[in-house]
Amino acid sequence: MRPTWDQYFLKLAMLASERATCPRMHCGCVLVRHKHVLATGYNGSLPGLPHCDDVGCLIVDDHCIRTNHAEMNALMQAAKNGVSINGGTAYVTNMPCTTCAKALIGAGIKRVVVFSDYHSTHAEAFFKDADVRLDRQEIPDNIINYDLDDFSSAKRF
Ligand SMILES: [Zn+2]
Ligand SMILES: [Zn+2]
Repeated sequence: MRPTWDQYFLKLAMLASERATCPRMHCGCVLVRHKHVLATGYNGSLPGLPHCDDVGCLIVDDHCIRTNHAEMNALMQAAKNGVSINGGTAYVTNMPCTTCAKALIGAGIKRVVVFSDYHSTHAEAFFKDADVRLDRQEIPDNIINYDLDDFSSAKRF
């Protein structure tokens, strides 16, 4: 079945989350404007630094602080490439934490779409106060529906 735009971008966020390197959480984020993907991110260590999966988590106050969160990594990718996300939408696998919510709002994100909640966050209150629309949606089909055998023009190697 052909996914809606929201399902499509949520599935891309799910795909990005497969690259996550912290076993405590796998999160993905896709920043979108006018139906175009502007940046993607997943929770992972700083470039060149060791991964939780390899050296263990770095726990402070019951949070792993080794990784940057998916939303932060997407925002930083946009910043590095000089891409404005002002007025855009953030598709995230999970409700952002308070810090990421504030960063998304500060960067000009106007809509956030998620399919699961996060155990401890003030994101919803900040989004409401900042007039950022928050949409909770059903988790989309977690299968990528691509099968070469379905397509008569495709030829296997
Ligand atoms: Zn970790
Ligand atoms: Zn966060």
